[in-house]
Amino acid sequence: MAKAVVLAAALAAGGAASQVLVGPGESNELAFRRQIRGHWFAWLSAQEEGDPISARVKVDEILKYAQKIEVRRVTDLALAATILGRRQMEQGKPDLAREAFQTATRLDPDLPEPRWARLSLAVRTRQYRAAASEFLGAVRASLADEETRRILGTRLLLILVFSGFAVTAAVIVVLAVRHGRRLAHDLSEIGSRLLPGGHGHDLLVVALLIAPLLLSFDVLWLGLYLFVLLFGYATWPQRVASVFALGLAIPLLPVLDRTSYDLAVASSPLVRSAEALEESRYDQRVVDSLEQARSLLPDDVDIRFLLGRVCQALGQNERAVAEYTAAAQLSPREARALVNRGNIRFVDGDLGSAQEDYQEALRRDARSVRARYNLALLFAETFRTVEAAQMLSEARALDARSVQAFQDAPTLVKVVSHGYSPEEARVKSAALEKDERGRHLLGLFRSYVPSSAWRTPVLLGIPLAIGAAVLLDRRRQRGHGYASECQKCSRTFCRLCKPPGESSLLCSQCIHVYLKKDGVAIETKMQKLDDVRRRKTLEERIRTALNVFIPGASAFLDSRVAVGLLAMFLFAAGLLGAFARFRFGIVARPGFTPALPATLLWGAVAISGWIVGQTTERRG
Ligand SMILES: [Zn+2]
Ligand SMILES: [Zn+2]
Repeated sequence: MAKAVVLAAALAAGGAASQVLVGPGESNELAFRRQIRGHWFAWLSAQEEGDPISARVKVDEILKYAQKIEVRRVTDLALAATILGRRQMEQGKPDLAREAFQTATRLDPDLPEPRWARLSLAVRTRQYRAAASEFLGAVRASLADEETRRILGTRLLLILVFSGFAVTAAVIVVLAVRHGRRLAHDLSEIGSRLLPGGHGHDLLVVALLIAPLLLSFDVLWLGLYLFVLLFGYATWPQRVASVFALGLAIPLLPVLDRTSYDLAVASSPLVRSAEALEESRYDQRVVDSLEQARSLLPDDVDIRFLLGRVCQALGQNERAVAEYTAAAQLSPREARALVNRGNIRFVDGDLGSAQEDYQEALRRDARSVRARYNLALLFAETFRTVEAAQMLSEARALDARSVQAFQDAPTLVKVVSHGYSPEEARVKSAALEKDERGRHLLGLFRSYVPSSAWRTPVLLGIPLAIGAAVLLDRRRQRGHGYASECQKCSRTFCRLCKPPGESSLLCSQCIHVYLKKDGVAIETKMQKLDDVRRRKTLEERIRTALNVFIPGASAFLDSRVAVGLLAMFLFAAGLLGAFARFRFGIVARPGFTPALPATLLWGAVAISGWIVGQTTERRG
């Protein structure tokens, strides 16, 4: 039944004549399946047979129907078309593959997968000019698609926090390599006091170094312990930088906790459905998962309402009415379902039932702006202009801004329905976590308590370690102090093993050889010089090797700490991005993003970090 809707001038924003899109009874699920799935299978066989002309006709039919029900993205069909296209590309049929990818892009313009596939096809067929524009299209789609944005954001965040953690670990390793020998000297002095016999010193030193592991703490605690021991040996810039680096480790555990929770909630059928609604997207998998949720929790008003809303958005009005009716019966306070059911009836031309629905909604929720606004449209439709004007002014009095927004951006059917935002869905999912039955649903099986995420013992260990390091340093400064390194031969010595009054820069042996020159045999002297030379070469080599594996280590040890930390961070982020990003945020969609461009990008980050590390190395 075609029916022109005439609106009062006050209501017809822009004066556009509106039309009723779907006649009563026509828009049931069967029609939907025929319009979308039916043409889809016809497209598949035409595409498989290499008949692009009739394939295109079928896609036009699907798109025509999608446009009619205001569905902008047909995601699951677009994904399937992409997979078919990839297969045809592998089979050496680039023209068919291109056709499939183009179809996928038409079915879902915001889906990144077919755009990346088109890029790789353009590269394979050496159409480099096309490749550039495909690349831009793929990037744009990646930013437009909510799921892609979430995965890319999660990966980027996790790469950053893991890189921060890697910098912390690298700084402790660098400090250990640089100052480890002096620390070992001091520990062995302690050892010789504890075990005066002289046996088992070395074992005791090792035991003191790895004490947390022996006490069955994990390696994170070992890192903190070594930081406390090494802190006092470091120069002032190194100390400041190492405290900063320790701070970089703080976000790791809470962020991991939070992202795993967010990813879990994002997989909840409610959130997925609400996002599909927001993006005007049709995805049968999402509808199916929401139906599963409804059969698990049949008395949940929100799930009923949301399922009704999803069906309404897909033009499956009879199912939508059934769900809305169930929701309205389940709760005497449910008004949204009545407003939306009234809208379906309004569009179907059943104005009497629509009016009853709006009025019942107003009885349940006296402040409903949508019920009033739609009722005003209905009165205008039936030429009750006085009542229409009255309703509209009541709606304006309640919320002038919303009414203005309804009028400024009218939908094709004019009446406004209640939606269900992803944010509402997240809150609802969090509430459902307390329901035993909800645990059978994806995404609803755990809860998140921020305070407990921040109360992990090793996190508290970080400020404690910084405090302990400062206290230990003050205590040791007042006591025996720290072991020193001979400026000539790097031999370690301390106040306990060196006669008082001697220079504190050189070891006793070097003082004899170089300063006093008293009765030292020429052979001894030559050997000493040889020793010094060899030790210097070895030290240079260790330092170079360290700087190769931890770029920036050399700059850090020269107390150019900022550039040192920057190089370490870039290098870690690049390596993690290039080789481990797939582990940070798993995607349910096949062939989510192309591996090569992202790997190249992260590889470039790693290389730039490495180059910064090498060019800032001290020479000679
Ligand atoms: Zn010496
Ligand atoms: Zn000593």
